[in-house]
Amino acid sequence: MAISPSRRRPNNRPRTNPLALPPFPRLLPHGKLTPRYSRRNSPFRPRYNLHRLGKNPLSHPPKLTFLFQHPDNVCVALEQKVLDWLAKLLHLPSHFLNTSPGPGGGLIQNAASDSTLIALLISKTKKTSETAPDAKLVAYTSEQSNSSVEKAGLLASTTIRLLPTDEHGALRGTTLLRAIREDIASGLTPCSVVATLGTTGTCAFDDLEEIGPICKDFGVWLHVDAAYAGAAFCCPEYLPLMKGVEFADSFCFNPHKWMLVNSDCSAMWFKDVTHAEKVFDRESSGTHFWQIPDVRRFRALKLWFVLRVYGVEGIRKHIRKQVDLAKYFEGLVRGDCRFEVCRVSLGLVCFRVKGDDRRTQDLIDRVTQRKKIFVMPYYFREKLVIRFVICSRFTEETDVLVAWEEIKSQVEHNLDG
Ligand SMILES: *Cc1c(COP(=O)(O)O)cnc(C)c1O
Repeated sequence: MAISPSRRRPNNRPRTNPLALPPFPRLLPHGKLTPRYSRRNSPFRPRYNLHRLGKNPLSHPPKLTFLFQHPDNVCVALEQKVLDWLAKLLHLPSHFLNTSPGPGGGLIQNAASDSTLIALLISKTKKTSETAPDAKLVAYTSEQSNSSVEKAGLLASTTIRLLPTDEHGALRGTTLLRAIREDIASGLTPCSVVATLGTTGTCAFDDLEEIGPICKDFGVWLHVDAAYAGAAFCCPEYLPLMKGVEFADSFCFNPHKWMLVNSDCSAMWFKDVTHAEKVFDRESSGTHFWQIPDVRRFRALKLWFVLRVYGVEGIRKHIRKQVDLAKYFEGLVRGDCRFEVCRVSLGLVCFRVKGDDRRTQDLIDRVTQRKKIFVMPYYFREKLVIRFVICSRFTEETDVLVAWEEIKSQVEHNLDG
């Protein structure tokens, strides 16, 4: 039995929207916000509470549990709406839209790691249904991809082959093609490729224009992980970085990483959701929710607030400012002959102290011990580099300068000693 919230409305519940945003029920299928509560989760006091929502909407969206079977599922309806806006903001191909005439669509996942796991599970189910059930499946990703891809392989019991990259850290078509041919020759069945747009280490971009057609030819699922860099695609000048994205069967990026949304919020789109539905939807369900847990947080709200508060131009301004700050930092590093810049991509600058790795390691140790700033080490092409990334919307040139002075002061120490 569903408990109607109206019969149990607490006395202090405000009757008007305290945020003065347009009421979102207008977006929903029946024009009314009619969440249903499962008895199991809140039999006496519905957790849906506008008052609480008003206090801290961006960091604590209410944890709502709805009867998912119900076609009025408000979480899903609003997510679909907001993800369509987001797909348009990122200039993604229109086949990803929930409102596209085709079978595409998108929803929110917890994290990019979940999206990768979900893509692997779907590709695995699809492949086994097309081939022998005991086929030995293999998936591919680059050696520069996020560790969550290997984790997803473990969870999905799928072998992951880590492929070498070119000098920029990008996975190329020829490397993938060679690996696929080798594996087929030795009796394995390639099932998916996880390509990265903006690797965690050096923000490198796999070549989707080369990889995509190969995946298509071999019937291999192409999942694109753009967890960090995806946010940049709201700016037209960065669109060349995602050339070939139309080949992706699924695409994920984290608004919680670089697009001002609080954790957790990972957007995931499918070219054809029917494969996902076969794996995740319950038979009785009339709605989509391609995820592992039953419960769903109302994350569409925080995404929607960010879109409303910043607007398209505000979000672009944020991204451009951070890229400019990274360029400013790059200039400072290049101006000092003791350092070398190894790679600059979007908001990330990878640099090192010239010479032996020990010098860079020593600098990292000193800076870390002093706790004034925080930098991350990474090995790129056999060399230790320092990753300096601008993420916070509060960062200004003066902060970058302070960080640089701190780094410089410690390397001076380092070289003198
Ligand atoms: C950060 C990152 C991830 C992991 O993201 P979660 O949302 O924490 O799972 C995956 N892939 C890339 C490329 C990343 O940068």
